[in-house]
Amino acid sequence: MAFIVKKNIHDKEYYYLNENKRVDGKVKTKTLAYLGKNKKEAERKAKEILTNKKKQPDQKILKALELEEKTTEKPTEISIEELAAFCKRKGFVYQSGEIYGGFAGFWDFGHLGTELKNNIKKEWWKFHVLQREDIVGIDGSIITHPKIWEASGHADSFIDVLVVDKKTKEKFKVDRFEAEKYKGDQRFEVKGEFSPMFTINVGPIISDSIKSYLRPETAQLIFSNFKAVYENARLKLPCGIAQIGKAFRNEIAPRDFLFRAREFEQMEIEYFIKKGIKCPYDIPDKEVLVYSAEAQEQNKEPVVMKIKHALEKGMIKKDWHAYWLATELRWFLELGASRDNFRIRQHLKNELSHYSSDTWDLEYKFPFGWKELEGIADRGNFDLSQHEKFSGKDLKVFDEESKEKILPEVICEPSLGIERAFLVFMLDSYYYNKGRENIVLRMHPKLAPVKAAVFPIVKGPKFEKIAEKIVKDLKQEFNVLYDKSGSIGRRYARNDEIGTPFCITIDGDSLKNEDVTVRNRDTKKQIRVKIIELKDILRKLIENEIKFEKAGKLFS
Ligand code: ATP
Repeated sequence: MAFIVKKNIHDKEYYYLNENKRVDGKVKTKTLAYLGKNKKEAERKAKEILTNKKKQPDQKILKALELEEKTTEKPTEISIEELAAFCKRKGFVYQSGEIYGGFAGFWDFGHLGTELKNNIKKEWWKFHVLQREDIVGIDGSIITHPKIWEASGHADSFIDVLVVDKKTKEKFKVDRFEAEKYKGDQRFEVKGEFSPMFTINVGPIISDSIKSYLRPETAQLIFSNFKAVYENARLKLPCGIAQIGKAFRNEIAPRDFLFRAREFEQMEIEYFIKKGIKCPYDIPDKEVLVYSAEAQEQNKEPVVMKIKHALEKGMIKKDWHAYWLATELRWFLELGASRDNFRIRQHLKNELSHYSSDTWDLEYKFPFGWKELEGIADRGNFDLSQHEKFSGKDLKVFDEESKEKILPEVICEPSLGIERAFLVFMLDSYYYNKGRENIVLRMHPKLAPVKAAVFPIVKGPKFEKIAEKIVKDLKQEFNVLYDKSGSIGRRYARNDEIGTPFCITIDGDSLKNEDVTVRNRDTKKQIRVKIIELKDILRKLIENEIKFEKAGKLFS
């Protein structure tokens, strides 16, 4: 029997058409359709659906559900605390040392979070290193020669200022340039300057040990290895060196879940050029909110425009900066992030780091406001010349074109924290689906922690044997999950919530036809695919090389 139910979700009313059915002696409720937010309208729709149901049983219901899928076009807005709770519940991220009360600023990644993080790194490396001819990668040590940090200026100038809000007792960090504004305000107390560098004694006998640091950024390892890598990899300017690895900062106030951690990972590129050389690459055709330093100084709003037009209008001064900003944005968008949540913002003069003549940040609209996601600084030849000075070594390289030795400049340093990228991909794929009454994590298949889930739909050894064989085969290449417990609806819901893009079922027809059904997480459409072709088709679907509807015989 069908009936209308009202649900209150986030203080809003939603109406659904449900039906009770007796299955194996038990009464089970199934949602037939979403009816909207208005009671009268819901009654009218329900009547229509039930009349049509008599004529054409499943088609109309499917259409209604499909329509519902299409209406949820934007991710559901959630707070950072809600996201943290979700990540914990599903096995993405845990507070480190939680059984001892937690350890502020440190996070452990669970079985799904680790997969997602690895996939982010894999996609970043593919896009920035493997698919390019001008960039190679390195993996430097975490504890480094202390001189490196003297040369880079970190030992002396990498300083955070601690400010306390006297009213709320909240502690937070500001940069030196911002400290002045708090000094003049009664409400705040500027507590002093602190170095965010973690010190460490190298050598077991403390009195004989050398004081060093856990690296606060990966970049300096690229500079200190620059000449060796340039020569051994036979690089030619313009070229880049990339690195992914841990960085540590003793943050004054770690907060906002993964956003500000004390241990995190960076994905960085130092891109070297001969001074004055034009960017030979096409600037990706990307449109985004652009916020120049001038607009900020004049209290104007950012404007939406193509990054290449911002270059033409002189808002972005250098073609290289426009190229790297658009390239970095492209990486995020191609992996499914939502363009509306991004903007590029130029640093104000007093905000620039000691080494940079111009810096633009790629910012993201986090639940707690617009914040830096990735910094893209023009560092000039500051670092290489400092390392020349402190090491006494010649770090110049031979330039084929001018036949002379030159010290290259870093025209751009795209520097992205993996944890912040992790938040972006989680937030932009988090959809509460009213029709299904569960969260659907609409993550790009390349990033999804589990690529496919396999369910035998009918109980019995014959079906389970096929399912197990499929799982074994797919597991050679993909992270695949085998799930044979609970109702089929529960199994789909469990996988929707962790972002599994494809669910494979073995049903009655599989035995005679040697095929399976594959369900698309986002549209719920299903196709039948021959078992022998499954691995190949799954690979193509993940890589976006084939449309779902064309990958097999569409049946619902
Ligand atoms: P913020 O102003 O937010 O402290 P920053 O300007 O000091 O950042 P950079 O030194 O430019 O950061 O570091 C490059 C990137 O490393 C940042 O854009 C961010 O993605 C990441 N990052 C920096 N600090 C942290 C942190 N404490 N936790 C997580 N990621 C971080």
